[in-house]
Amino acid sequence: MNKQVPKEYMPKQVSILGAARSGLAAARVLLDQGVDVFLSDACDVRALDFTLASNSLAHLRHEAGEHTDKVLQCDAIVTSPGIRSDAPILQRARKAKIPVWSEMELGFRLSRAPFLAVTGSTGKSTTVSLLGAILEAAGKEHVVAGNIGVPVSSMVSSVGPDGFVVAEVSSFQLENIDAFKPKAAAVLNLLKNHLDRYDNEEGYYDAKKAIARNMDTGDCLVLNACDERLREWSLTVQDRTAIVFFGREMGDVDCVWHADGIMYRRHEGAVEKMFDLSDMKLRGGHNRDNAAAAAALAASVGIDTASIARGITGFAGLPHRLEFVREIDGVSYYNDSKATTAESVACAAASFGANVHLICGGRDKGCDFAGIGDVITEHVKTIAVIGEAAERIAREWAGITTLTREDSLEAALLRARGTAAAGDVVLLSPGCSSFDMFSSYIERGDVFKKLVNALAGTGGGET
Ligand code: ADP
Repeated sequence: MNKQVPKEYMPKQVSILGAARSGLAAARVLLDQGVDVFLSDACDVRALDFTLASNSLAHLRHEAGEHTDKVLQCDAIVTSPGIRSDAPILQRARKAKIPVWSEMELGFRLSRAPFLAVTGSTGKSTTVSLLGAILEAAGKEHVVAGNIGVPVSSMVSSVGPDGFVVAEVSSFQLENIDAFKPKAAAVLNLLKNHLDRYDNEEGYYDAKKAIARNMDTGDCLVLNACDERLREWSLTVQDRTAIVFFGREMGDVDCVWHADGIMYRRHEGAVEKMFDLSDMKLRGGHNRDNAAAAAALAASVGIDTASIARGITGFAGLPHRLEFVREIDGVSYYNDSKATTAESVACAAASFGANVHLICGGRDKGCDFAGIGDVITEHVKTIAVIGEAAERIAREWAGITTLTREDSLEAALLRARGTAAAGDVVLLSPGCSSFDMFSSYIERGDVFKKLVNALAGTGGGET
């Protein structure tokens, strides 16, 4: 798809689809620019009125219940990640040649600062946070925004042209970009995911690859050297944009990788030692990969190695991602509630020795649990499965190690506690979404932490 509308163009009338966080942020920012905004949400009228009133947007022109053709009376549409790109209203918009932008595209258009973008199936939030820590250490003006929780359009005005917008970008946002052109962008990995939303795996991977659609020789694409699909793809884009690999050493090409306890960087043939991995607070090979990606992005825009090292080694991690909760009777408890794919469970388990008591399960996303059987065999002593996916996981891991089905997170935790010995690890790493039992992965992780903390008060000696 060719670029349709120059970045500088500001439409006079915009329709916004979806009144969730990114839609409301887009509405605010556009109103501030003097744009005539119309908001359309399929929810119930009273719910929308309440949302608008509680966000001081009651004066906004709007409709609820369905997306009618009123939406099409505009110069551009800003759509929310929750709305499928093949929704009938968007099909009609495209037929009418109305540009359809994601809120990420809008944020990019409104930004004076260049974007450093991160996409991929897992590791995005960790990587953008590491990059934020690096820019902080370098004293560079920046914001970290996007999928991580703060809509980009609400943040971009606070960064000048010499700073950076660090953007976590989802495949849904990439479905509707136009001028979006990051100065540097990383694709962390392409794993089977979101097959509920895409017709097939290729559709999902293609959405991710759109991140590089407008990138040219002045930009830098950072790709996972261990991902075969990304290596193959690099051959088709290498003539158009600079490429840096991360994760493992790749012949003579530019890359950032870890080996023998050291993070290295090769740039134009010269190899540099960046920092000792033992100084990193984050555990696990997957986090060393995330750190390598963040280092490659930062180095590509001229951040010095000392700041990269300081930023990465000083970063303590995000909540719900392999988060250390506490130690009780010599057993360490970790909350990895954000792990919603089988691959993430494998990364988490492999971050420890052969001493893991794993709590797994939730709403089934169709992940391939059998495919990570070897890692489970090597690192996991016992498994407690919970939630809607419990039966399927139990089938896929039949015979691997001691496995029990439990009715609740609390029962699973008690089971793990009962079998764990000093020196072991109890790990909540669900490999599934949380919605069968919780409102979000955050609630699931918070409940787990509360339960663990309560355990400390029931006979267990905290250490
Ligand atoms: P995202 O924002 O893409 O969901 P996060 O940084 O929030 O990713 O990490 C979510 C979970 O994914 C973590 O708890 C961890 O289990 C797993 N994970 C993180 N980084 C990677 C990686 N590079 N490869 C595979 N799994 C990862």
